[in-house]
Amino acid sequence: MTDFVMKSDKDKIHRFLFDKANIRGEITCINDVWMHMQSNHNYPDIIRQYLGEVVAASVLLSATLKFEGSMTIQANGDGALTLMVVECRNDFGVRGVAKYQESLFNEELNETDIKDLLGNGTLIITIEQFKSKERYQGIVALDGNSMSDFLEGYLQRSEQLETRIFLASDENAVGGLLLQQLPGQSDDADSWERVTHLGSTIKSEELLGLDAKEILHRLYHEEDVRLFDPESIYFKCSCSRDKVTNMLRSISHQDASDIIKEQGNISVDCEFCGKTYEFDEIDIVGIYTDNAQPSDPSTKH
Ligand SMILES: [Zn+2]
Repeated sequence: MTDFVMKSDKDKIHRFLFDKANIRGEITCINDVWMHMQSNHNYPDIIRQYLGEVVAASVLLSATLKFEGSMTIQANGDGALTLMVVECRNDFGVRGVAKYQESLFNEELNETDIKDLLGNGTLIITIEQFKSKERYQGIVALDGNSMSDFLEGYLQRSEQLETRIFLASDENAVGGLLLQQLPGQSDDADSWERVTHLGSTIKSEELLGLDAKEILHRLYHEEDVRLFDPESIYFKCSCSRDKVTNMLRSISHQDASDIIKEQGNISVDCEFCGKTYEFDEIDIVGIYTDNAQPSDPSTKH
């Protein structure tokens, strides 16, 4: 629990710049959106913590999208934690979900680091441009022991940019601080070391409980920092009846009919937002005979 009650900038991301040092930064704290994301789920503490870290990281990383699109961070594994996927759009509409093997969960696992919890795992970063439907996908090695380690390594390799990421997560809020060295020379040769060292002193409760202005003051009151107006983060699920219809087309008409016969209808729940999509016999006949309007393949999952 956070001790600070004065927090006013909920569900916001702030960008900032060290004017003399060629370093940019972001601070985010996500509250109501995070609570909403958990509302359909009853995650064990450790899963909730790691999913929260991915939510904060995905908001921080999406701030670099320069087009209408989204960034998805997906962690897959064969351990007790099998999947975490968080999608954040360039306008900070975000959604996320985690899956785990319930039978493998016990109290001891609450001490496990993310790498052991995932087991044999990979991290996949997907950047999608909505207009052109172009997709870029990068596979991230799980180097290190934390989500920050994995993502810092990814940014180093993919962008050649030194980046430090600090993440915090509890049941009420998730937060993050990102520091990134921009290309080009700085007048102040020691600045990166100094700024990241100070950054590393940030405590989880500060990231989760203080306003961006206070955090910057605590860490960097001796530096020239320019804080920009914040942007709002909101919950956005991109599920739709069309997408579920496309998904249903991937099972055979016969299988769909069998389900209808057995259960009366086909009911598909969105794992992200909990919305239920129902299809009855007439819908199913329509789906499989509707050749006049072929589905848009780009919206398939
Ligand atoms: Zn949904």
